[in-house]
Amino acid sequence: MDVHCTTCGEPWDVYHLRHDAIYETDLSPAEAKAWTALSPQLKLLDRYREKFKAAGFEFGGSILNVTRCPACPKDAKPDPDKAALKAGIVELLGDDEDAMVDAMEASGPERKWPTPRRDCGV
Ligand SMILES: [Zn+2]
Repeated sequence: MDVHCTTCGEPWDVYHLRHDAIYETDLSPAEAKAWTALSPQLKLLDRYREKFKAAGFEFGGSILNVTRCPACPKDAKPDPDKAALKAGIVELLGDDEDAMVDAMEASGPERKWPTPRRDCGV
């Protein structure tokens, strides 16, 4: 299963985010391994957010809510509609990561992610 970056729409494998992305930070392998066992809340302590940010990742209220990723163009900004939608999903389903992924996928690329259609003659 994938979730998509709010800013650039890049798909990220959920397993990768949960288990592998942490190894792209400059945490030691032992620390990275310990991180994978933390609860969802502890995974996003400021210390870890900073490490992820240095590696190109930024998250909303969940590790599965990717707001910026290493694939983002430098000056790209998160899509505000998408950001609000995902924040709502995280708030609603924050304890159930699988349900969260399903909900995000249901709102996913088929709905013209990431470009809203504003050119239809209005
Ligand atoms: Zn991105």
